[in-house]
Amino acid sequence: MSFEAELRKGEFFIPECRSCDRVIWPPSEFCNQCFGPVSLRKKEYEGKIIEFSKQNNEYFCLVEFEKNVRVLARTLEEPEIGKKVRMSKCGISNGSYFFQVS
Ligand SMILES: [Zn+2]
Repeated sequence: MSFEAELRKGEFFIPECRSCDRVIWPPSEFCNQCFGPVSLRKKEYEGKIIEFSKQNNEYFCLVEFEKNVRVLARTLEEPEIGKKVRMSKCGISNGSYFFQVS
């Protein structure tokens, strides 16, 4: 199973190296440190809003998960810096990743 295959199904996993326990981001099939195999860990990730902007009445925020995993996500409520959020929707649309938090 790969990060993209799961994302396509609407599942968000953070890839981790089984040998050295590092989070692998951006996602890759092999660890960029030890070339060990990467596994996907499923859990309820809680992220934090780092910054946000408003475009065409939509809010986009930079959300940080697990210390160094940063994704650009849409949100429907007015964001606040430092606010804790969870991934509410994600997937791949027209070849690009999309994420939504709430
Ligand atoms: Zn490794």
